[in-house]
Amino acid sequence: MKPSDMRHVYGPVPSRRLGRSLGIDLVPFKVCTYDCIYCQLGRTTDLTLERKAYVTAENIMAELAPILTAADRPDYISLAGSGEPTLNSAIGEVIRRIKQQTEIPVAVLTNGALLWMAEVQQALLAADLVLPSLDAGDDGLFQKINRPHQALSFERMIDGLAAFTRRFAGAVWLEVLLLKGMTGTAAEAWREVWQIYRLPVVVIPTNRPCIRKTAPDRVHAGADAKWAAIVEEVRRVHQAGRPVLVGTRSVRASERLSELLTDAGLEHDVLNAVRHREEAQIIAGAGAPAKITVATNMAGRGTDIKLGEGVAERGGLHVVASERHESGRIDRQLFGRSARQGDPGSAVAIVSLDDELVRRHAPHVAAALRRRHGHRTIEISGPMTRRVFDLAQRKAERQSLRQRKGVLRTDDWLDEYLGFTASTG
Ligand code: SF4
Repeated sequence: MKPSDMRHVYGPVPSRRLGRSLGIDLVPFKVCTYDCIYCQLGRTTDLTLERKAYVTAENIMAELAPILTAADRPDYISLAGSGEPTLNSAIGEVIRRIKQQTEIPVAVLTNGALLWMAEVQQALLAADLVLPSLDAGDDGLFQKINRPHQALSFERMIDGLAAFTRRFAGAVWLEVLLLKGMTGTAAEAWREVWQIYRLPVVVIPTNRPCIRKTAPDRVHAGADAKWAAIVEEVRRVHQAGRPVLVGTRSVRASERLSELLTDAGLEHDVLNAVRHREEAQIIAGAGAPAKITVATNMAGRGTDIKLGEGVAERGGLHVVASERHESGRIDRQLFGRSARQGDPGSAVAIVSLDDELVRRHAPHVAAALRRRHGHRTIEISGPMTRRVFDLAQRKAERQSLRQRKGVLRTDDWLDEYLGFTASTG
């Protein structure tokens, strides 16, 4: 067979992990279960879970036969290529037939996405070495980095990996990719990231267009009026059959809101540092129809809230922020719990002039507005009252930036000073 007739077998090529590796490409170009943001082959053209005999075992063996008898023996025969090899339903037969003809060990390079399937586990059992890759530590990052087929989840992939590792008698080399500096809300911090680390921020478009509806802030004069408005907002959304997630800044605020919801006869779950152990379970259920969840802003971040049956048709998850945070990024992280992966969803902040943000960072304007509107129990939203929250947040962000730079300068100084004493000691 001439080299030009070789369509699925290539090499041997030098491989950093496998020495001289003879590669076998089992799927057409970019047929994959993932569409990884870092994929050097470009965007996935066929994002699928459908397993087919894209290339038959006969075709592979016909190409391999002359190479297996040649004196120039590779260290490994690697099933890999320009997509996900386990999508080829003939992979088990290919491995078995290679093993019948040669002692050269067979390695499978896989993204591990299908290892939860019993037939994929069974097919790979005859291999000598399996090299799955792992890029994410939770479902949020999994969705962002690997952009998987919609039927895949981080949990499913990890469970499959664990189950396969228990069954497999050969070696598993787990390849962990550490992607530095990946976050959902770095865009607004680009200036600081550049000034301090000299690193540019690159915005990666969302997997699917975001259709979240974010309403303008609803402002109240006092805290009591604000909490009453939040309870009414929760009731309204709950009665429409939609799930609602209320974010609070502190454990104490989450407990206060929990009491008010109980008094109003609204059943709910609370997710805060106190109930850390139940976090995954509570978050998993937070997208169920009419579900009410109260969570501190930091709790359960990075976890996708999956919508329950019929929830998308009713408008998806509604997020209520009960205070604006010192950093706009934290607000965005909370709002970002809704309308993920192209789902519908909405968000609103219901705030008051008693909130810590304006009391600390815009005390004079907030006091003047309180004098003017303090007696009012109805909403006092307007350009002026909303602006005071933006001003306070910008001031708080500038202050935090100055503090971070101060800490950095002290760090550098200590490094230099301690380095000097160590070298002379
Ligand atoms: S799993 Fe591999 S082939 Fe598929 S998109 Fe990711 S890097 Fe590319």
